[in-house]
Amino acid sequence: MKNGKLIVFEGIDGSGKSTQYSLLCQSLHAKSVEFKNLVFPQYSEESSALIKMYLRGEFGDKPGEVNAYAASSFFAVDRYASFKKTWGDYYSAGGLIVTDRYTTSNAVHQASKLRKGERGEFFSWLYDFEYNKLGMPAPDKVIYMDVSLEISCEQLRKRELDTGTNADIHEKDREYLASCLDAARDACKYYGWDRLNCLDGDGKMRSLEDIHAEVLSKLEDVFV
Ligand code: ADP
Repeated sequence: MKNGKLIVFEGIDGSGKSTQYSLLCQSLHAKSVEFKNLVFPQYSEESSALIKMYLRGEFGDKPGEVNAYAASSFFAVDRYASFKKTWGDYYSAGGLIVTDRYTTSNAVHQASKLRKGERGEFFSWLYDFEYNKLGMPAPDKVIYMDVSLEISCEQLRKRELDTGTNADIHEKDREYLASCLDAARDACKYYGWDRLNCLDGDGKMRSLEDIHAEVLSKLEDVFV
């Protein structure tokens, strides 16, 4: 049996990853490509219980009140449960998986709680924990959606208005978002993610279609 392919969209909150994930899924459907798509965390599953408690602030109002390693484990077990229950066999039989976030989100959100000099050790631990110890597959391609802090905040407000939802403890803390952006850029270099610059020369968000076209071009090597 040959393992499948795993494509992951990553970025800080409000970077547009869910939007591009959906556009890719639509494109694959239109081309009749067989695949499974997943969004993490899996909030509708029992496996997300600790994540929900953490994001509601039950362990503290600020993300930093739960250390990077503890919080990473909450998100890792949720992914592990879905791997065992819904997509591990499909992947192992050669299936294509597209996800909105993955282990990579621990690298972004949790490394942000650590000083720069401590992040390398954390990245190495995270890789070993999820891919070697828990045995989940490492992605074939991580598309990292790079934006500025200003654009991320603007898009988060827009989404709150569009969907009538309230920000969780990650999303409403601007200082935390800024450190996530810094950690995301460190993780991108450390793990060799494929960076997609979502901004134009004036620092404005590029159009959905323009970004989507670049996503497709970045995936050419995955589909050969
Ligand atoms: P994320 O999943 O990274 O948190 P979303 O995909 O939910 O981000 O996008 C956040 C908000 O920004 C949404 O309201 C979405 O419609 C909007 N958005 C995303 N990409 C673009 C874009 N290229 N141009 C304009 N608005 C966008």
